[in-house]
Amino acid sequence: MASIELRNVSKQFKDMYAIKHIDLTIEDGSFTVLVGPSGCGKSTTLRMIAGLERQSEGDIYINDRLVNDVSAADRGVAMVFQNYALYPTMTVRQNIEFGLINNKVEKAKRNALIEEISEIVSLDGYMDRMPSELSGGQRQRVALARAMVKKPDVFILDEPLSNLDAKLRVKMRLELIKLHQKLQTTFIYVTHDQIEAMSMGTKIVLMNEGKIMQESTPAEMYDFPENLFSAQFIGSPPMNIRTIDQVGPLFETMDPDVAYMGFRPEGAHLTKVYSHKDAVQFSGYIESAEVLGSEIIYSLCGGSGELIFVKSFDKKHTLNGNVWVEIPRENLVFFNANGDVIKREVHNTLRE
Ligand code: ATP
Repeated sequence: MASIELRNVSKQFKDMYAIKHIDLTIEDGSFTVLVGPSGCGKSTTLRMIAGLERQSEGDIYINDRLVNDVSAADRGVAMVFQNYALYPTMTVRQNIEFGLINNKVEKAKRNALIEEISEIVSLDGYMDRMPSELSGGQRQRVALARAMVKKPDVFILDEPLSNLDAKLRVKMRLELIKLHQKLQTTFIYVTHDQIEAMSMGTKIVLMNEGKIMQESTPAEMYDFPENLFSAQFIGSPPMNIRTIDQVGPLFETMDPDVAYMGFRPEGAHLTKVYSHKDAVQFSGYIESAEVLGSEIIYSLCGGSGELIFVKSFDKKHTLNGNVWVEIPRENLVFFNANGDVIKREVHNTLRE
């Protein structure tokens, strides 16, 4: 088990900062997911922790030990890559055993480790197969087993499921969650897929342009986004954002800093008539309706031509109809001109 700490870490490639002065603590035994758009610096952060890339500035600690000058092999970190990097001419057993032989682990111990790990990842019936004779999910498990036999303190996984089809990805997600629970080891996982991040992480670190935008549990990030970026990256469809110019002042006393108003697609509902409840309302025109099963996503065109998503269990609304979009005030989120969230308590009576 291991905790990891990055203090004021930056990474520069020529004159470009890939990582800009980040501080990050990864708790012992956590399943921490780094998530963010392409190029935001996720892989660079992982590679610096693993010791595959040297930071330009700052310090990295693993278990309170400064590891700036410790080689990748001596950090107690095992990495699993997106492309698995299996040896194609070796059997599953040989792939798993390779690193152990390199580390001069004796035969009896090697066999015991391979037996233990192959059972954990359910590969015990496949040990004599070649990688080409395995499914994508099985190959991924070989890659995991190869990392696991080293008994690392930290597992680092860089988009490990991105080569799998959608169904298998869902299955492997669950397997990884179970594996983490079983091993109780620190997992650091990189993905650009917010659904993967939300479903797997005990903690999410949301990155953009080399900076950390928010760090929290998945539920907190969804319910309490700290900024516009976080509000719009997490959630599908994303949070609806309207400028205050579009909606006008909503409250008798409104924080003058409010520049944007947001609400989740499931935080609004559609009504045929204007009601005077404790809710913000505006008219919209239903342009499309996407049935997901029990729920439906309506895409509406708002008064200023903007796109609004409303997610609902109520499927009765028809296409090309005018409706009212009604948002109970407790579902509203406000941001200032910098995109930072403004705490809700400052607002009082709703304007009629
Ligand atoms: P993706 O989701 O696309 O894999 P990422 O968030 O993992 O992206 P990184 O691979 O960490 O992003 O890259 C961060 C930035 O650093 C990008 O702008 C990238 O082009 C740049 N970068 C990464 N490695 C190098 C390198 N070796 N030389 C120069 N620039 C690099």
